[in-house]
Amino acid sequence: MRASIVGGSLGGLTAAVLLRDLGWEVQVHERSPAALQSRGAGIVVHPVAVRYLVDNNIAPLDAVSVGADRLVYVDREGTPVFIEDAPFHFTAWNTLYRALRGHLDGDRYHLGEALVGFEQDADGVDIRFANGSTERCDLLVCADGTSSTARSLLLPAVQPVYSGYVGWRGTVSDSAVSRETREAFRQTIIYHVMPASHILEYPIPAPDGGVAPGTRALNFVWYRNVSEGAALDHVMTDRDGNRRARSVPPGEVREDVLKELRDASAELPPVLREVVEMSSNPFIQPVMDVEVPRMAFGRVCLMGDAAFTARPHAAAGTAKAAADAWALATALEGNGADVAAALREWEPGQLALGSELVKRNRRMGERSQFLGTWYPEDTSLRFGLLGPGN
Ligand SMILES: Cc1cc2nc3c(=O)[nH]c(=O)nc-3n(C[C@H](O)[C@H](O)[C@H](O)COP(=O)(O)OP(=O)(O)OC[C@H]3O[C@@H](n4cnc5c(N)ncnc54)[C@H](O)[C@@H]3O)c2cc1C
Repeated sequence: MRASIVGGSLGGLTAAVLLRDLGWEVQVHERSPAALQSRGAGIVVHPVAVRYLVDNNIAPLDAVSVGADRLVYVDREGTPVFIEDAPFHFTAWNTLYRALRGHLDGDRYHLGEALVGFEQDADGVDIRFANGSTERCDLLVCADGTSSTARSLLLPAVQPVYSGYVGWRGTVSDSAVSRETREAFRQTIIYHVMPASHILEYPIPAPDGGVAPGTRALNFVWYRNVSEGAALDHVMTDRDGNRRARSVPPGEVREDVLKELRDASAELPPVLREVVEMSSNPFIQPVMDVEVPRMAFGRVCLMGDAAFTARPHAAAGTAKAAADAWALATALEGNGADVAAALREWEPGQLALGSELVKRNRRMGERSQFLGTWYPEDTSLRFGLLGPGN
C-alpha cells in the first residue's frame, strides 16, 4: 500500500513514520525547496506530540524538552499575584522536527514538491506537483497547513478567518538575560494580563538542543490587537515591502515595526520586558481560525492545521496534528486495504476534536483580547488538547 503525504512538517512527518511502521510505502512531499527551519518559537508538550519519540525510545522526554512545575501570573511590577502547581514540558519546533525527520529515510522525503492537483478513481489517487512530476498512491494525506492547497481544492468555501489580533513571538538565550530573570523562569511559566492583551513566557530548548539552565532559551508569545486593513497591512509588510499572509518570519520584520514592539514593551513587568527587549529576531503570526465540515474524501484526507487551525491559547496545535496521525494509523491498521472505509471510521472523532479545539481557543482569545474576562484562577483557561488541563 502506497501513501503520499503532502506537507513535511510535524503533522505530515508523524503520519509518515507511523504509516511506514505499519508497512506502508510512504513518500513525503514538502513544498519548501530548502530544509525546513524553525521559526524559533516554543511548543507546549502534550503527551501525544512526543508519543512516537518516547514509545520508540528515540528520545526521552527530558532530552527533548524543558520541564517546569509552576504557573505564575505577575502584576505590572512583576510581583506574583497567582501561583499554581502544574507539571509542564516545553519544547521547540526544531527539536521535534529534527527527531522525527531523523527517523524517516532521506529518499522518502522530497523537498521542493508542491501539490497543485489530484484526481482519484476507485483504485487510487493521481497527484500532480508544481515541478511537473506525478505520483499514484492508494492514500493521499494532506498535512499542508493553514494555507492548504488541498483544502482549497476540496473545500473552496473554507478560508482562514483573521481573529483581530496577532501573536508576537521571539526567543533569547537564557545566558543573555540577567540572573534574576533566568532564575525566575527556572521551573516556571509566567503570564501577565493587560487590557485587551496578554503575554506568556517560558523556557524551551536552545537551537543546539541545550536544556539545562544557562544553556537553554526563553520564549515569549504576546497577543496584541491589530485591526484588519491598514493596521494589519502595516505590521505584515516585510523588509522588502511584501505583504505577508501567514507570518512575518524572524529577520523579516521591519525596523519601524520592531521599534513599536520595543516601545510597547515598556508597559510590561520587568521580568517579561527583558525577554522581549533582548530577543534578537521577533516575528509575527496573525491569529487565525480554520474549520472544515469534512476531513475524509474517498482516498484523500485533510489533517492537522490543514483541517482545523486553532488559536494558540490551549497550546495544542502540534498535539492535534499528532493525534490526527495516530488515529489515522489505527484506522488504517483496522481496515486492511479498504482505505475509504478507514477514513470514514477515522473522520468523526477527528472532526469533533478539531471543532471543539477551535471553539474553545476562540472563546479564550475573545476573553483575553476583547471581553476583558481572562482571570488567572479560571481553570477553563488552562492548556490542553482534550479539554482545559487535559
Ligand atoms: C517551518 C515551520 C516552523 C514552525 N515553527 C513553529 C514554532 O516555532 N512554534 C510553533 O508553535 N509552531 C510552529 N510551526 C507550526 C506547527 O508546526 C503547526 O502549527 C502544527 O504542528 C501543525 O502542523 P501541520 O503539520 O499540520 O502544519 P504545518 O506545520 O503548518 O506544516 C504544513 C507544511 O505543508 C507545507 N506545504 C504547504 N502547502 C504545500 C503544498 N501545496 N505541497 C506540499 N507541501 C505544502 C508547508 O511548507 C509546511 O511545511 C511551524 C511550522 C513550520 C512549517
